[in-house]
Amino acid sequence: MKNKVLGGIYGQALGDAWAMPALLTPDETWNYYHQWFSDFYPGPDHHPFHRGFIAGRVTDDTEQAYALAEEIVREGKVTVEGSARAIMAWYDRIDGDNCSYVGPSTRRAVLAMKRGVDVYQTGRYGDTNGASMRVSPVGLIHPGDVEGAVQDTYLSCVPTHHTDVAVSGASAIAGAIAVAMQPGVSLDDIVAAGMRAADMGRKYDEHWIGASVSRRISMAVEIARSTRSEHERLQDIYDLVGATLAITESVPSAFAVLVMADGDPMKTATYSAQLSGDADTIGAMATAIAGAWRGIEAIPAWVTEKLRVANPEMDFDGIADGLYHLALANGK
Ligand SMILES: [Mg+2]
Repeated sequence: MKNKVLGGIYGQALGDAWAMPALLTPDETWNYYHQWFSDFYPGPDHHPFHRGFIAGRVTDDTEQAYALAEEIVREGKVTVEGSARAIMAWYDRIDGDNCSYVGPSTRRAVLAMKRGVDVYQTGRYGDTNGASMRVSPVGLIHPGDVEGAVQDTYLSCVPTHHTDVAVSGASAIAGAIAVAMQPGVSLDDIVAAGMRAADMGRKYDEHWIGASVSRRISMAVEIARSTRSEHERLQDIYDLVGATLAITESVPSAFAVLVMADGDPMKTATYSAQLSGDADTIGAMATAIAGAWRGIEAIPAWVTEKLRVANPEMDFDGIADGLYHLALANGK
């Protein structure tokens, strides 16, 4: 199981950093690079958010997932207060007031928390993908336990994304990872768990407007499994499922690239990059699932080494160790 936790942690960072330099649309990305991604690239000079990022550098997705994982390990469990502390600490560390890549729901919630608004109110109307991009540690500590993963996902969402649609999207990722942590499961089992978790998460309070994440995962996976070419399928995913910050788009698209790649972490990251849109977030979510399923042995050593070097403030192995011990204690 340790290999699966490591695979989830490094998978998240891999998908995030690999897709970080992708541009806004599939055509734009292809016309700029003229090939499938085969290495970590720096953020291009004309990139709206990631200009100046060195090759291998992760973005807010992995920074927040890491901050959340630190609080989970420190407390031994997921709590609303710990999740709030993690987000606040991350925001201050990156100088969020002056940072271009803080998402809209998270920024609104952090500013409200700083004004002293109750943490159960600060996440109202948060319906973008910040809840799902950081949730992988919650799945990793609940091997085989979709219900437990969904309950803790809810707690992790409250401070910034306290809406049924966001809890649903984040639950899909955490539930898929929880099942991917089990030995001998298939990719179909993982997709089914993601859909079931999405439906469970949608039943939580703070009703808001949003499409069905589980039904959109079903549609996304059907597109991913069509007989069209890789480029055509990615364009279909981009056009029909969507790759924006909306959690009802990017979470189903993450399942689509995961399925297109048959759960291989490197291919999942590569398809995420070529899909474009909010590619780093889709890559982070999809490749965290792939890494948890295939284990760290599916991620080449040069990749993990480059991630460590490009992100020296993050102790990926140390945080995986902490989560592993919680997973052992929770394991069913
Ligand atoms: Mg990002």
